[in-house]
Amino acid sequence: MATLNLLKWSLQQEFEAPTWQDPMPLEDSQYDEGFKILLQGQSAYQDFIVPQLSQLLTSVLKSRVTVSVLEVGPGPKSVLGSLPSHLRRRIHRYAAFEPNAVFATRLQTWLSSSQESPLPCLDNQPDIHRTPFSLNTKTAVDPSGKEDGSAETFDLIMFCHSMYGMNPERDYIERALQMLNKKPDEGLIVVFHRDGAQFDGLVCHQTVSLPTGVTSVADDDETLDSFAQFIAGSGPKSFNGEWIDRQWREVCRALAHCDENRPKCLLYSSPDIMMAFTQRATRLPELLAEVSEASKEHRVKNREALVHYPASVVAPADIGDVQTCLTVISGGHGGQCLWPNVVALDMCAFNQILVLAKEEDNGKSPNTLVVVGAGCRSGDIIRNTMAADVTVPLGSRPSVGMGLVLQGGIGHLARQHGLASDSIAGAVVVSVATGQVLCVGNVPSQHQPADAVRLENDGDLRWALQGAGSNFGIVISVVLKACPAPEYTVRNCVIPLIDHAQAQLKLTDFNEEIAEKLPRHCSADAYLYHEAGKLHLGVNTFEVSTRDAIEPPPDTTALLGPEASSKTVDGVALFDTEMYMSAMHGGHGGGKTSSFKRCVFLKDIGSAGLTDKLLSAIESRPTPRCYLHLLHGGGAVRDIAPEATAFGCRDWDFACVITGVWQRDQDGRQEARAAMQWVYDVANDLLPLCAGVYGADLGPDPRDATLAAKAFGPDHARLAIAKETFDPHNVLAYACLLPAVERAQRLIGLVTGHSGVGKDFTAVVWMHECNTAGFSTAIVSISDSTKREYANATGADIQRLFEDRTYNEQHRPALLKYYQTQVQTRPRLPEEHFLEAVGRAGDLDVLFITGMRDDALVAAFSHLVPDSRVIEVRVEADEAARLVWGSNQDSNTHAADALNNCPTFTFHNNIVDAAGVQSAQAFCSNHFLPFLHPNLQRLRTMIHSTPKFPHPNITFRDILGLTQQTGGLKLCTSLLQSHFSGDWSTVSAIVCCESGGFLFASALAAQLDIPLALIREAGKIPPPTVSVAKGGSYISSSGTNSAEGKKVEMSREAVANGSKVVVVDDVLASGETVCAVLQLLKGGGS
Ligand SMILES: Cc1cc2nc3c(=O)[nH]c(=O)nc-3n(C[C@H](O)[C@H](O)[C@H](O)COP(=O)(O)OP(=O)(O)OC[C@H]3O[C@@H](n4cnc5c(N)ncnc54)[C@H](O)[C@@H]3O)c2cc1C
Repeated sequence: MATLNLLKWSLQQEFEAPTWQDPMPLEDSQYDEGFKILLQGQSAYQDFIVPQLSQLLTSVLKSRVTVSVLEVGPGPKSVLGSLPSHLRRRIHRYAAFEPNAVFATRLQTWLSSSQESPLPCLDNQPDIHRTPFSLNTKTAVDPSGKEDGSAETFDLIMFCHSMYGMNPERDYIERALQMLNKKPDEGLIVVFHRDGAQFDGLVCHQTVSLPTGVTSVADDDETLDSFAQFIAGSGPKSFNGEWIDRQWREVCRALAHCDENRPKCLLYSSPDIMMAFTQRATRLPELLAEVSEASKEHRVKNREALVHYPASVVAPADIGDVQTCLTVISGGHGGQCLWPNVVALDMCAFNQILVLAKEEDNGKSPNTLVVVGAGCRSGDIIRNTMAADVTVPLGSRPSVGMGLVLQGGIGHLARQHGLASDSIAGAVVVSVATGQVLCVGNVPSQHQPADAVRLENDGDLRWALQGAGSNFGIVISVVLKACPAPEYTVRNCVIPLIDHAQAQLKLTDFNEEIAEKLPRHCSADAYLYHEAGKLHLGVNTFEVSTRDAIEPPPDTTALLGPEASSKTVDGVALFDTEMYMSAMHGGHGGGKTSSFKRCVFLKDIGSAGLTDKLLSAIESRPTPRCYLHLLHGGGAVRDIAPEATAFGCRDWDFACVITGVWQRDQDGRQEARAAMQWVYDVANDLLPLCAGVYGADLGPDPRDATLAAKAFGPDHARLAIAKETFDPHNVLAYACLLPAVERAQRLIGLVTGHSGVGKDFTAVVWMHECNTAGFSTAIVSISDSTKREYANATGADIQRLFEDRTYNEQHRPALLKYYQTQVQTRPRLPEEHFLEAVGRAGDLDVLFITGMRDDALVAAFSHLVPDSRVIEVRVEADEAARLVWGSNQDSNTHAADALNNCPTFTFHNNIVDAAGVQSAQAFCSNHFLPFLHPNLQRLRTMIHSTPKFPHPNITFRDILGLTQQTGGLKLCTSLLQSHFSGDWSTVSAIVCCESGGFLFASALAAQLDIPLALIREAGKIPPPTVSVAKGGSYISSSGTNSAEGKKVEMSREAVANGSKVVVVDDVLASGETVCAVLQLLKGGGS
């Protein structure tokens, strides 16, 4: 499938033939026609542009309540119209340069639509300039100059596929940079462009690509004529219609791909790229003044990476240089070590390997330690350590670098000694958050850089480096635990397979009779590949032997036939024994091939379902040399708990490396694209049956997202928080992709109170305060849903209901009545409206919901959003303040009813001047922000969930399990202490009930030196006692009589009459226990 760029070039070649005269720009109507065809045929807008733009706008909004946008060449409708409503509502100023008169007129009409406007909160009329965006700031065509001579600036400037005629592109970006707001935080320029754009040394803030973009065009002459003119970007001056149209149609058809599922359509590859720039875009010269550029012969091996054009590749010589740089190349085998317009950091200077004598480890561990610089490759490490008679577990290629150690590292020692990342004892890392040099874990003192510091929570970073380590900082060196250097006896055999049935049988036998029976010091890899027109099963067994006597491996000859080869080698020679290098496909065409890999973890490869999938994967290979490599796991890999390191996928027997291979001269062409797509197709096909995915080399390619969701096992949430903590600005954005941070609202504040107490004003202050603290926040009114339905039913003006306060007040009684009538027929309407409000708000940290009309809010809504914390905050104001806020009438009687329940917090909004704003700000800091504290999020990640336990409709959250994690109980205790809004010195006892309550209360009581008062099951403490009956919990009981309940009791003297106590329990499920406790404490027991 040709790319649109190739199509454009080919069309222009025809056009430049001597028969034709100079090109001339398209007329507006021709452009309009072509643009429509392109838009109809592209899915990139919805799949790529809108989600990317939403994310960027959300990040710009972190430091602003509203934004101003300048769009260059928006066309007849701005793409902003497709953003979620909560983002559109934050756009308060909009300007555009749209030189196409037809588009400009339509844009104006669309923006001022009398129905719900796409940008409903603009302060002024949109400013649409019917001129091209110009480089010359002084001319009249640059209307950005204000009358007072100062330049107008914007928070966001967008070029959405509008840069094609701008040459050189860099100059236009530099011009736009001058028009960016610098406060409160830097604004952003966003460019969407067909892949391949180069910006001549400009450094991107962020780049994301959509390599799989496809454009489809109807295969009829009329459509093709318009489309070809649009793509070529011009029409002939003396238009000799027929002939050129015919030529162009032929070119379009010859280059297109046809798919039988989409008849009468021509398909073109249209990979898209998004680039975001800030003021730092032009600062490469400053960097190069301090750090020298790497030689052109840098060490990148990965062919996919080599088609990316970085802004520069620099080679820092020491740690000081690293502190000023960005992204990283170690062995250069990863697909994203180079990225378009991003500075890459070649770690080649950090190439030292030091084997430490045992006593240098302060006697803490008997292991020999090896300090390895981040520029070292596997082959160097093995060679150097072998000289000291030790080794470390690594992978199978000598040229692979630190990326392997940091992201897992599966090799032939894994079954005996674990993964490479398991052997990381410590590391020296340059923080991308602060620029500091950090020492993490065990770094012997003489190897700690002079200015290095230690983090308080150093355990979290070490945990994250062991399996997802390309994401958190620039690793300068790692300290690895070594093991004795062994010899390896390697046996290769190849079994030609006659048919599917035999293939299935052999694979099953290989698994059951060989792999499953091998002791830990042996491993067996399998290969499925085609050669000389036949399917083959290759088997590669490795026996690891040190001086210690170990049991021999089972004899495999009977099953696999005579061995093709067998030899005993050391760790260096081992690299050459890999079957895929030595025995298959003539050594891969003598190195004249390129490859692309993704790896999924499998169990039970002998099962019919899996063998079927593996065999059909090989059958469907698009190029002859694609193959599957099954690397043997289990043993020590499984010994480590999934939560113990960031490498969370542990329970598997084989790592299945799906390898697409093509001729090197096909790099970047259809054969390469087909092989890569095959890798993804096979991985996706195996996903439902797999036990996880290897995170190494997953990156920003959208096809990696589904794989990333299965990488890291149960560690997603903790990793997401570690990323926010250690790389808060996402400097390492192109490394191994981490699962997206859970973006369900983390805090939902229901703002209630009588009419006229200043709820809306207060909510705006709170929103601003949360935004300033770095949390994306919005306010939505739950009554908007009712307004929409009411406007539909009655013909009222929806826009005025939203924006015109007087008009809204006039309709208020009718609206209320309408709502009440609706609730009678739709009793779940409040829940529906709540979910609609939450959905409308989108991905946010904090959402304030106003316009509440119902009762028992938190209890009614919490269960609908289990991943968010719902609180009710009631705003109250005294008579004097209410007069100022606008009303002393409580016309909203229904809202008044809702005030019978007990809110989480109450805010007294009695001060109406600037001090009132301060008081609301202080309230926000003291009451809301603690819910967003990273420590609370950390605690949350320590609680694991088991769906369908103990009953099918219950998800079990293992609260007690957090005490089994290092630091869990301590963290929980300190949060319990700090979240209590009362005065601990007035509390005379901490009351708790068994069993979970005992645990948490004991730690808290010890911390605060306050006595415990224990509530037990009846019959466990001697009299005198007081007791009450307690209903059974449907959560914790699995017996059939669970609802029957039992008695709980407390020693009569445990709590003195009239004293203040705090009750601590583990989980609030049905509430039966806490009700019984309260009854007991209130003297209701007998
Ligand atoms: C031919 C081949 C064979 C392979 N064999 C194995 C194998 O046997 N076992 C196995 O487990 N995997 C294997 N892999 C996968 C390999 O582990 C990954 O491709 C790995 O990411 C490569 O690391 P690198 O340093 O060579 O590549 P790079 O592209 O240099 O780095 C890979 C990633 O790590 C990041 N990174 C590198 N150094 C640092 C640092 N100092 N600080 C922070 N981030 C850093 C980079 O930014 C990049 O995102 C193989 C890959 C290939 C291509």
